[in-house]
Amino acid sequence: QLAKKTQRNWIEFERKLEIRSTRRLALLTELKEAIAADQFELYFQPKLNVRNNTITQAEVLIRWNHPTRGLIAPGGFIELAEQTGLIKEISQIVLQKVHTLVSQCNTQGITLSMNLSAIDLEDSRLLDFARSLNTKHPDDARFITLEITESASMKDPEQALNILEGFSKLGYHLSIDDFGAGYSSLSYLKKFPVSELKIDRSLVQNCHKDTDSAIILESTIEMGHIMGLVVTTEGVETDEEYQQVCNLGADYVQGYWLSMPIPFDEFMAKHLLGSYAQEIQPI
Ligand code: C2E
Ligand code: MG
Ligand code: MG
Ligand code: MG
Repeated sequence: QLAKKTQRNWIEFERKLEIRSTRRLALLTELKEAIAADQFELYFQPKLNVRNNTITQAEVLIRWNHPTRGLIAPGGFIELAEQTGLIKEISQIVLQKVHTLVSQCNTQGITLSMNLSAIDLEDSRLLDFARSLNTKHPDDARFITLEITESASMKDPEQALNILEGFSKLGYHLSIDDFGAGYSSLSYLKKFPVSELKIDRSLVQNCHKDTDSAIILESTIEMGHIMGLVVTTEGVETDEEYQQVCNLGADYVQGYWLSMPIPFDEFMAKHLLGSYAQEIQPI
C-alpha cells in the first residue's frame, strides 16, 4: 500500500518537474528572442535626498515588454537569465541604454543607478563593454552608479573585486544593494570600493512599530556612516516609515511613498514639474 502511494507521489512529482522544465524551456526561447528583438524597457524610480529634499538620482529597473503577456517584472525572468548566463547580454543592453540617457538626465541634475548581477562579476565581459562605451564618452561613468547585491553565489570574490575596481577606475560609483536581506557579509563591504549602502525594505518594515526593528535599522545606518558610506533606505511606503527612517539617520529614501518605478518620459515630466505623488514634507 505504502509502496504504491510512494510510487504515485513519485509519478506526480516527475510530471510536475516535466511541466516546469517545459515552461522553463519555452521561457528561455522567448528570452533569447527578447534579447534579439530588444523587448526590454527601463523604468525609473527616483531617490530623495532627505537632507535637502531634492531628487538627484533615479534607479533604473528593467521590464520585459513581452509581445503577448505584456510587461513582465524582473522577478519573472532575471533568475532564469542568471542561471543560463543570458544575464550578461541583458546587462550590456541595460548599460548601453543607461549611457545613452546620461547626458539628458545630467542636464536636469539627475544621475542614474542600475543593477548588476553577481554573474556580471564572474568575468570581464561587461567591464570590457563598459570600457568601449567610455572611450566615446569618458565623462559619463561618473554619473552612473552600479548596484551590486551581495550574494552567496559570488563564486570568486577576488575576481569580483578586480572587476569592481575596474569599474571604479572608469569612474562608476558602486553601491551595495539589498543590505540586510538574507546574505550580507560585512567583509565585502570593507573590501569593495563602494560609496553607498542601500538598506533592504525588510529592515525598513516595522521600524516605526517596534523598538527592536528600530534598533536594528538605526545601528545598520550608523554602521554605514562609520564606514564612510552614504545610506539609502529602500521600500519606504508610508509617511510613518518616511518619518522614522529620517529620524534614524537615513541620507536618501526610495520607495512607493515617493514614487513607483515609471517610464522615462513620465519620470522626466514629473521631475520637471516637481510633482511626485507625495508632497515632500520638510522635517
Ligand atoms: P532592487 O534593485 O532592490 O530594486 C527594488 C525593487 O523594489 C524594485 O522591484 C522596485 O520596484 C521595488 N520597490 C520600490 N519601492 C518599493 C516599495 O516601496 N515597496 C515595495 N514593496 N517594493 C518597492 P523590481 O523592479 O521588480 O525589481 C526587482 C529586482 O530585480 C531588483 O531589486 C533588482 O535586484 C532586479 N533588477 C531590476 N532591474 C534589473 C536589471 O536591469 N539588471 C539586473 N541584473 N537586475 C535587475
Ligand atoms: Mg537596486
Ligand atoms: Mg538588487
Ligand atoms: Mg534593493
